[in-house]
Amino acid sequence: MKTIHDFSFKNQKALIRVDFNVPLSDAFEVADTTRIEAAKPTIIKILEDGGSAVLMSHLGRPKGIEERYSLKHVVDKVSEVIGVQVRFADDCIGDHVKDTIENLKNGEVLLLENLRFYTEEKEGDEAFAEKLSKWGDIYVNDAFGTAHRAHASTTIVAQFFPNRKCFGNLLATEIESIDKVLNHSKKPVLAVLGGAKVSSKITVIEHILDKIDHLIIGGGMTFTFVKAQGGRIGDSICEDDKMELAIEILKSAKAKNVEVHIPVDVVAADSFSNDANTQVVDVSQIPKGWQGLDAGPKSLERFDNVVSRCQTILWNGPLGVFEMETFAKGTIALGKSIEKATRNGAFSLVGGGDSVAAVKQFGFAEKVSYVSTGGGAMLETLEGKTLPGIAAILD
Ligand code: AMP
Repeated sequence: MKTIHDFSFKNQKALIRVDFNVPLSDAFEVADTTRIEAAKPTIIKILEDGGSAVLMSHLGRPKGIEERYSLKHVVDKVSEVIGVQVRFADDCIGDHVKDTIENLKNGEVLLLENLRFYTEEKEGDEAFAEKLSKWGDIYVNDAFGTAHRAHASTTIVAQFFPNRKCFGNLLATEIESIDKVLNHSKKPVLAVLGGAKVSSKITVIEHILDKIDHLIIGGGMTFTFVKAQGGRIGDSICEDDKMELAIEILKSAKAKNVEVHIPVDVVAADSFSNDANTQVVDVSQIPKGWQGLDAGPKSLERFDNVVSRCQTILWNGPLGVFEMETFAKGTIALGKSIEKATRNGAFSLVGGGDSVAAVKQFGFAEKVSYVSTGGGAMLETLEGKTLPGIAAILD
């Protein structure tokens, strides 16, 4: 696996695919700098080597050229974070960009306009990728968030850099962290899978059963498992057509010696609202008219016990409807358990959409070993797929 540390960038122009798909406020100000901070070490290494950096990224889902999705809105924030005045090109291909790049000096950074202003980017168009490839001597992919897409700038462009392509610092760390959990883990290994639906996590569960010793199932998924085993789940969320699959998973886990932990009690509510009336009930005795929206205290105590016994922990998906304060306690308690285990030496990886939002919101981001920057990319990796953006560098 080649990384930026295998190259010297002295007098070299690095063409770097970054992920600056950041949230913008109504005033077009960057609302969260996490992704920019994450790209910083790669950019700095290249500049310190004595090279220059051409940054390319997408922002949002523009239909053609839409000013609100222009990357000009992020230039100042990128300059501030990396400590260098970043230049901006108002296109990502064309003669004007060519001139600017020819005049780019060592130590300078140029950010190209949104790649998705061209449909060719998402189509993975080879001619478009070849045009982009002219902008650098070495191609660096540092965008984990889009590594599962075979887009022009994330995958196709790599073929124009035989032996001159590598992973950026962020992407290399993402790969190493997942590898640490899936292939080189200290036992016992625990996966906590929460979130809304079994259907979106099923392939992950099937793939990781071979790699883990304990599986905690939480969130809305719980009720498909409970109902499948004959429990009364009231009005809780459930995928009836996945009940058979749930039973299969439990059988398969047993055959593989994986201990499955499902909530034994839940916080049930009489409506899907923060102000609902609530009661703690046995997970298989939820009255009609009530729905389980968070793990209950007995479950949390059990989960804490499991977490504290594990050396490697993967967490994907909240234990309850954490967006509402009333039902966030389970997710917060799990975060605290994982924080404690990490302090005691366990390796903990949090990844995939909503759990990342939850760890940030509740202040656990600095207290776990690693928080992944890729939602879909993380899930696909956990499903055992080789991501096209990663394969293109290894090629
Ligand atoms: P996912 O994207 O699959 O990780 O699902 C995350 C979503 O699951 C969050 O928005 C949570 O509010 C939701 N969720 C968690 N627990 C429950 C539950 N018991 N009932 C309904 N939704 C839930």
